[in-house]
Amino acid sequence: MTDVQAPEAVDYLVEATQVVTMNDARDVIRHGAVAVRGDTIVDVGKASDLRARYAPARVLGGERFVLTPGMVNTHIHITGEPLTRGYVPDDTPFVENVFEWLCPLYAVYDAAEERMSGQLAAVEMLRSGTTTFLEAGTIRFLDEVVDGLVEVGIRGRVGRWVWDLPPEPSVYRQSTDAAIGHLQHQLDTHRDHANGRISAWSILVGHTTCSDPLWRAAKALSEEHGVGMSFHMSPATLDPEGFIAEFGQRPMVHLAELGVLDPTVAMTHVVRIDDAELDLIAETGVHVAHCPTTALKVSYGITQVGKFPEMVQRGVNVSIGTDGNNASNYSDLHRATYLVAGLFKDARVDPQMFPAEKAYEMATLGGARTMQLSDQIGALVPGMKADLVLHDTDRPEWRPLLNVMNQLVWSADGRGVHTVLVDGRVVVEDGHCTTIDEERMWAEAQRMGESITSRSGLPDKAKYPTW
Ligand SMILES: [Zn+2]
Repeated sequence: MTDVQAPEAVDYLVEATQVVTMNDARDVIRHGAVAVRGDTIVDVGKASDLRARYAPARVLGGERFVLTPGMVNTHIHITGEPLTRGYVPDDTPFVENVFEWLCPLYAVYDAAEERMSGQLAAVEMLRSGTTTFLEAGTIRFLDEVVDGLVEVGIRGRVGRWVWDLPPEPSVYRQSTDAAIGHLQHQLDTHRDHANGRISAWSILVGHTTCSDPLWRAAKALSEEHGVGMSFHMSPATLDPEGFIAEFGQRPMVHLAELGVLDPTVAMTHVVRIDDAELDLIAETGVHVAHCPTTALKVSYGITQVGKFPEMVQRGVNVSIGTDGNNASNYSDLHRATYLVAGLFKDARVDPQMFPAEKAYEMATLGGARTMQLSDQIGALVPGMKADLVLHDTDRPEWRPLLNVMNQLVWSADGRGVHTVLVDGRVVVEDGHCTTIDEERMWAEAQRMGESITSRSGLPDKAKYPTW
């Protein structure tokens, strides 16, 4: 008789020189491993222990790698901008940026272009270590976008964005009833694709584009379907000025009165708020998606008036987004996390705003909370989804490896991402997406980007003579 048990079959044993678990104790395990069966993490521990305990179909990683949870991008425009990345000049004022550049560009996308745009965004996120995202809002063709995302294999919450007040651009003008109808339709249709990886939320443009009946209906539909709701608010002074002119109240006060603000809501930007609005944000438990690159590129004054340190001190869950590719040309959440760690250190002359560990928590655990997925993603813990990222440390920015959390935020970026699993499936290997034909994607993206910008009629404002 012997009490030595036969090794248990698993699909993967993923090994690394350091495993950054982001578990409750924030354990970092040297010479560690994660065992994966199906879509789930079944064990986390020392590699030597897990090798004895499990018989994997395949071993990934090794001593050259750092293993982390996938990051969570809580605000990204996967359509409308990825195929026109950088076309808008970076010296364009906010109002001109939105109304004279972005709206006309968004208006010309067709269904195939929106599908490709979503896939390009998803591939960029996966290859830079983001495994889950919250969409800012598909412009028009959600069914095609969902189909493309399922093919790529990322995890996300999506929705056609709705508004009912602006008359232009006419191609996506919506009556209140039509906007509510879009929300109802997508929540009914896109509930649980691909093992639950892709499903719909109530996603509004926000700002001053929604009537009170639309705000209320979107909230009611979110509650009825048990999903979250997201929208933009107060990046610049336009929103508070608009709400005060229309309702005599600042945005948070009005939205709280409408019953919109609660812990199922993700609100993006939230730069121009006063202290009473900060109180409401803290009291209602609404989540805030902080998009630092947009603030920098579109001149929001974030380091002068932003209250992100106060939000964190008050217990508000702040997560991170990369936003649109004309406000943040990249979709690599490492780069946005670097800014989150750095901007308020300088603005407040205080290195505690924010330590690397806190910034990385916002990019993983904070994102999971914003997306109401804290029991499934954001950490490497048995029972959670197998969304894993292997960072290759045989790169100049990773050597020497002496303080993994400091280096994840301040040294590394998405270029060091080697292998990515989502739901226990390898979707990136050796830096390349395994689920789609990348060569075809580069060619199509170029062709479509040139076609969209040409059809928009907007001028090429590149300043240097190009010949
Ligand atoms: Zn946005």
